[in-house]
Amino acid sequence: MLLYNSLSRTKETFRTAELGKVKMYTCGPTVYHFAHIGNLRTYIMEDVLEKHLSASGYDVLRIMNITDVGHLTSDGDTGDDKMLKGAKREHKTVMEIAKFYTDAFFADCAKLNIKTPEIVQPATGCIDDFIQAVSKLLEKGYAYEAGGNVYFDTSKLDQYYRFHDFKEEDLEVGVREGVEGDSNKRNKADFVLWFTKSKFDDQELKWESPWGLGYPGWHIECSCISMKYAGEYLDLHCGGIDNVFPHHTNEIAQSEALLGHAWCPHWFHVLHLNTSSGKMSKSKGEFLTVSLLEEKGYDPMAYRFFCLQSHYRKSLVFTWENLDNAQSAYKKMIAKIRPLLADQSAPDAAQKDALLAPFREAMDNDLNTALAITALYDVFKADASAATKCAAIAEMDKELSLNLLEAAKAADSEQSAEQEIPAEILELVEQRKEARKAKDFAKADALRDQIAALGWEIRETRAGTEITKK
Ligand SMILES: [Zn+2]
Repeated sequence: MLLYNSLSRTKETFRTAELGKVKMYTCGPTVYHFAHIGNLRTYIMEDVLEKHLSASGYDVLRIMNITDVGHLTSDGDTGDDKMLKGAKREHKTVMEIAKFYTDAFFADCAKLNIKTPEIVQPATGCIDDFIQAVSKLLEKGYAYEAGGNVYFDTSKLDQYYRFHDFKEEDLEVGVREGVEGDSNKRNKADFVLWFTKSKFDDQELKWESPWGLGYPGWHIECSCISMKYAGEYLDLHCGGIDNVFPHHTNEIAQSEALLGHAWCPHWFHVLHLNTSSGKMSKSKGEFLTVSLLEEKGYDPMAYRFFCLQSHYRKSLVFTWENLDNAQSAYKKMIAKIRPLLADQSAPDAAQKDALLAPFREAMDNDLNTALAITALYDVFKADASAATKCAAIAEMDKELSLNLLEAAKAADSEQSAEQEIPAEILELVEQRKEARKAKDFAKADALRDQIAALGWEIRETRAGTEITKK
């Protein structure tokens, strides 16, 4: 498989340290608020990558952290503790907030068919590992204590900036913003490994450490959690493009300093989801969550389809119109699959492979899901039996996870249930619905009696009106 590597800025043949096994790390969510759909774009694309690697025969070990430790609004020693802010907002304890939003994150993932990684590790469960790593960095001379905090000394590295997609001047602007007011740092790019002194006094979660009561810096958690489960070598590290700097740059700095050798050769980054006014964020404009999409009548699968229609290395613009288009394209696709379901004959294995070849080629070429979906559309036009087409679609959907056959079957059984109810009854049910809406309950009751006289019973349930034969 060819996969773009943010370190080399080229598409490379993806290789792993151990034949047939991928150790894959994903930066997990910060759990003080709901994830917005822009965050979830990254998780959808990482999910497709994991499933494609599995479908290609790899045994994938996937690890994800949950950032539930003091969440600074910036990388520097400034800003509020986001967890505490969330807790104050919602009158809950910090750990209650973390649990609530961790559950909410995985509920959103489930709706989007994002598989839960094999290992999910909350940072608060690894404080001893972080303390050990910071001690080791101090011992090795890569860290120093100043003003009560422990800092990583970036001047001890031959090369600190590792991702060259960004101009060094741009990075320095980011660094400058982060270190504003922190005179303890020896070099502007140095970052905190352990805090005991923070600009906000009411940091809720603190632990004893050799440097005093405090809490770990953000970056150290990913290095330590990765090493805890994957050992000294990682094959693939994933995240959103905004993690490149400073987070991933700092992860590499710490990990290689700790290990004394190269750590992870391949870095996969998903570009932003933008709104028409710029990058989607928690603080700007309408806060777009999976629940909001559902409230507005969208199937979460339509959002997944929307994401898959474009390449992960292109920024994607979200508008309601774009989502409408994706939803209608998704529905049309399901409608095209429905007539194929009836064919119960055995699929032709050779023909199925031929249908799958362009799909695999697209996925093998830097996870080109847009082209892979074109290959899916081509299945409908192909000269093959319906059963063979269904088998090919099922195979593709192991990676796309769009519920294609399930949704087609559900649409089919819904319609056959509808067909059994005579049009006359449906018309009366419709009239009754209108009467209820107009609060004309006398008319609604009369219509119910009329329906009952014709041998049908209607019941109001939470899912809507249920019509059954008496
Ligand atoms: Zn991370």
